Order: sequence, then C-alpha cells, then structure tokens
Amino acid sequence: MHNPGRDYRTTYTDLLQALTQPDCAVCRLVNQAVRQHVDVFLYEQLLVLERRAEIRAARGFCSIHSAMLIAGHGRMLGAATLYQDVLNDVMRQLEGAVRTVSPGAAPSRLQRMFSIGWRGILRKVARIVRPQRACPLCEYERRQETVVLRALLNDIYDPILGAAFERSAGLCLPHFQMALLLPDVATDHQLRLVELERGILSTLKAELEAYIAKRNAGREAEPMGAEATAPARAGRLLAGRIVHSDGRL
Ligand SMILES: [Zn+2]
Ligand SMILES: [Zn+2]
Repeated sequence: MHNPGRDYRTTYTDLLQALTQPDCAVCRLVNQAVRQHVDVFLYEQLLVLERRAEIRAARGFCSIHSAMLIAGHGRMLGAATLYQDVLNDVMRQLEGAVRTVSPGAAPSRLQRMFSIGWRGILRKVARIVRPQRACPLCEYERRQETVVLRALLNDIYDPILGAAFERSAGLCLPHFQMALLLPDVATDHQLRLVELERGILSTLKAELEAYIAKRNAGREAEPMGAEATAPARAGRLLAGRIVHSDGRL
C-alpha cells in the first residue's frame, strides 16, 4: 500500500501537538496516519490490481487493522469488496485442492486415520488459508513509526520539543524499544531519549505506588489525585499500539 504519509516538516509540528495529549505521541500520530491511509486506499486505490494482490496474499488484514477498516459506514463497501476478493481466492484454491484429492464421497473414519493422501490435502488446505505475506497496513504502520521516531530523535535536543517530551506521557515501551534500535541515528540523541523516558517512567512508577497505597486498607476515604488514572495509563504504556475498535486512538 503506498501513499506518501507523513513528511518530516509536518511531523515536527504534529509531534509538538501530540506530546500535549494523553499516552504515547508516536502511537497517536501513527494511528492517524494509518486511518488516513485506509481512507485514501478505499477511495483511490481499490481498483489498483497490485494492491488487491497484496491483500489477497496477506489473506486480509491483522485483527487490529480489520477493526479499523470496518469502523465507519463509509468504509463498508470498500471493505466488502476487498474481503470478497480474498474469499474468492481462498474458495477457488480450496475447491481445486479438494477436487484433485477427493473425487468421491467423504472417507470413512479408518481411511481418515491411515490415508497419507488425506493428510496431504489437509496440509494443502492449511497452506491455501495461510497468509503469504504480512498485513499491508502493519507494513505501512512500521514505515510511519520509523518516520515519526526519527523526527523525535532528531529534534530531541531542540529546547521546545525536548521540554514538550519531558512533560508528556512518554513513549509506550514498544516504541521506546524501536527508537533505541533504529539504525543510523546519533547515539547521543538515543541516550538523551533514555534519560527523558527514565524520568517519565519513574514518575509513573511513583503514581502507581501512591495508587496502591491509597487503595490499601484504611485509606479508601482519601481523595485520589493524578494517580487515579495511573493503572490505565501504565497498561497503555506497557502494551503500546493503542487503537480502539472504532479506529480512534
Ligand atoms: Zn507508542
Ligand atoms: Zn495490520
């Protein structure tokens, strides 16, 4: 799936904005980019044979992107067309495989147990159903993650962006890990990110401790502060890739 996606200049401004929002800014921006990409795809590229072949080979999309694809009435017709295409391909191959090996009636239980031929057909059917490539939207997502993380790392010493990151919810752990493994990025920029993320993680850890302490016996009446949402925020930070079933972040 191809569209230009985010470029570097808009990413700096978008990052500043996303860093003022809850949860991982990279998750937020990448999710927006993927949603826009889905819409562009459904309106402009649905009839491009190469794209359709990719989706057939992937046997559709992963569960997260499938949920995104059918979020919103406007996407249903496009989704239906794509899924029909995948199922047509599966059924065509399936019928071919079954016809060549089982010309007659269904085999007896004994035949099923001992027949190599039937084991062969089962393996063939499993191969037909199995994706031959990754989810095309996951591939697009990985490319967008790289663009956003590179922009963040590149400007991590920028006083405005650096300060915005320091005040933010930090990166989710999957994106933090990805940022540290990116090739061709200045090591000192990655170390600066580690330093800033460490500060954010230790604040979150303290909030969790405060939450647990206040939940413990005898302190239920004490009012909660920012720590009230700490368990949910910690869960999202650890898991990353925050996408609701309706495609919202
Ligand atoms: Zn993230
Ligand atoms: Zn996917």
